[in-house]
Amino acid sequence: FKSFNPFNKLNNEISDYVNAKQIEIDELKRMESFRREFLADVSHELKTPIFAAQGFVHTLLDGAKDDPSVAKRFLKKAAKSLDGLDALVRDLVVLTQVETGDIKMNFEIVDIVSITEDIFEQLENKADKRGIHLKIRPKAIKECAVVADAQRIYQVLTNFIDNGIKYGKENGKVSVEFEEFEEHFLITVEDDGPGIPKDHLARIFERFYRVDKSRSRETGGTGLGLAIVKHILNAHKSSINVTSTPETGTRFSFTLSKGI
Ligand code: ADP
Repeated sequence: FKSFNPFNKLNNEISDYVNAKQIEIDELKRMESFRREFLADVSHELKTPIFAAQGFVHTLLDGAKDDPSVAKRFLKKAAKSLDGLDALVRDLVVLTQVETGDIKMNFEIVDIVSITEDIFEQLENKADKRGIHLKIRPKAIKECAVVADAQRIYQVLTNFIDNGIKYGKENGKVSVEFEEFEEHFLITVEDDGPGIPKDHLARIFERFYRVDKSRSRETGGTGLGLAIVKHILNAHKSSINVTSTPETGTRFSFTLSKGI
């Protein structure tokens, strides 16, 4: 027979309360440092295209405008920087929405093969410019019905295919492959480009992480594409996998549940 000590009960309650408060404080600290880092990253990223456009416009005003060929070149560069700024702000809005869960996913049954065909049509010119061939495997596949938000999955696939075109090797290929399993399809986007070095692979889904900053900017990249992709696929309860072999290429795979 154990004697009942009312102070033990009180002590336990107090220590539970203190532990719960400590967890809340830790979470608030984590959010605050995330917010501070995010703001620092964003200001840094915004500065690059703003400074560039500013520089070109001031040089034009300081006299470059009087030489028509120089003026045209500088105006084009200023316009490219402003386009980059526009893309960055648009991606930031989407990233913030997907990160905070502000976007409601609109799940329906969609055919992922026809989505891929639409994206190929849209990116054909860009691929042609680098001599890159876009293809669907297996050739015979006509339809894959999955449960997804059509618009968001369009964005995910566009990002993977567009990256294959941007970072793949010239005159190479980007292929999208569909594999059927009992409850899901596995979708793989593969290129035969120079690949992603092993020590960078784990970080490419982080916002603003780029293996080669100048190459990403030159191709109009914001460094936010894969961060957005990760959130959209998480909302689809999809698992993503990336493998890359130097000089052989990169493969991004993800799953989507089957529509019955
Ligand atoms: P970005 O706007 O820079 O393309 P992403 O988030 O889409 O941003 O990609 C992050 C980085 O991952 C890219 O800057 C690039 O360095 C690397 N990357 C993504 N896809 C590929 C690929 N298929 N081949 C080689 N590198 C890639």
